[in-house]
Amino acid sequence: MANKKIEPLYIYQKLEEMYPEAHCELNYKSVYQLAVAVMLSAQTTDVSVNKVTPVLFEKYPDAEAMAKASYREIEEIIKSIGLYRNKATNVVNMSRKLIEEFSGIIPDNMEDLLKLPGIGRKSANVILSEGYRHPAIAVDTHVHRVAARLYLAKETDTPDQTEQKLRKKFPEEYWSKLHHLMIFFGRYTCHSKRPECDKCPFYGQCRYKG
Ligand code: SF4
Repeated sequence: MANKKIEPLYIYQKLEEMYPEAHCELNYKSVYQLAVAVMLSAQTTDVSVNKVTPVLFEKYPDAEAMAKASYREIEEIIKSIGLYRNKATNVVNMSRKLIEEFSGIIPDNMEDLLKLPGIGRKSANVILSEGYRHPAIAVDTHVHRVAARLYLAKETDTPDQTEQKLRKKFPEEYWSKLHHLMIFFGRYTCHSKRPECDKCPFYGQCRYKG
């Protein structure tokens, strides 16, 4: 029978034992490039994004260069990834707004990040956590699924609700690493379909009934 009182810190500790190397798998050389890579990664794998960013960042390494690009030029470079037309438009518009209103620098606070085209709360949390080392938990599809299966949130919660629940359940200093640990666990063990439950330390304690 499932134990619904699985301790959050026990989950953290076990995930850390499984994935001590958990980290952001997007390649970038500046906070600006991180923001662009995060925007490109929506509904696309990090591996696919890492295939297009070397060419993209060679030609357009910063907001100043990207702001001068046409949508078409960016589309051509990123056309192998999903939603590339929208993403090309957002990346160019985001860069233009950065130049016009933020001196070309990615803001280090949620309020200003959310003013940028193509940046939602999840992306902003990744930028704050990874780019600026602020405590933040970004809830993507992996984090959402794993949180629900381990009784840290409900399946029916919105990503914002899941984020708030995780922020309450874990000390602030754990948030950024927790985000990476849950992504690695979701990506490499607790898959959406056919999770590898035989390898899982939470077997018998989770909500999944597959
Ligand atoms: S037992 Fe299976 S579904 Fe549950 S958390 Fe572990 S891998 Fe995921």
